[in-house]
Amino acid sequence: MKKEFVVIGLGRFGGSIVGELISQGAHVMAIDHSSDRVDEFASIATQAVVANSTDEAVLKSLGIRNFEHVIVAIGEDIQASILTTIILKEIGVEKITVKAQNDYHEKVLRKIGADFVVHPERDMGIRIANNMLSNTVLDYLELSDEHSIMELKANDNIAGNSMIDLDIRAKYGITIVGIKRGTEIIVSPQADDKIQLGDIMLVIGADADINRFVKKAM
Ligand code: ADP
Repeated sequence: MKKEFVVIGLGRFGGSIVGELISQGAHVMAIDHSSDRVDEFASIATQAVVANSTDEAVLKSLGIRNFEHVIVAIGEDIQASILTTIILKEIGVEKITVKAQNDYHEKVLRKIGADFVVHPERDMGIRIANNMLSNTVLDYLELSDEHSIMELKANDNIAGNSMIDLDIRAKYGITIVGIKRGTEIIVSPQADDKIQLGDIMLVIGADADINRFVKKAM
């Protein structure tokens, strides 16, 4: 069954979410109060609707409650973003993701029950800065404030070692959950699987432990 999403606000952020969801085969209802924006997405989204999301009756009439996940991608207008989120909560939407403009906005969104708050400019800035500083950490996914999955590029110090040789679970308390080798991916590598130069190791664990491993072993 296809996944069903609603994206409210079709600026650069909301627009790129719609495009990606559609390209991955999801159903998307795209909403904006600007008819120009909606026209632009009429041929892309499953359904494109001109509506003001701060109007509860309108959201109800669109059957928003029946969608799995609603993304509020309203940019500048913080008041509209907050009000929309409150209405979505009241209607009983299961999962709500909201784009925050600043830390204060984020705090309010969390208080009123947004399930996921994203801060794209800030998060992308942190990610790019980290990538610039490190030749080893290629990318990461934050699981909590203290835990992540990181992609680490195997260098000379690591290459040639098997999982047993590295013994990183015992030594650092972290786990290699996969190895990317070109287009191939080895899921849950076995004890005697050897790392090759240039492999990308997917490592899960506490940030502090992963950083310790990178500093000491790589
Ligand atoms: P970005 O930085 O992602 O480009 P914008 O602020 O440019 O963000 O885009 C936000 C979009 O949200 C705009 O297209 C705007 O028309 C839309 N929007 C703002 N308020 C509402 C609202 N109350 N209902 C529906 N759409 C809205």
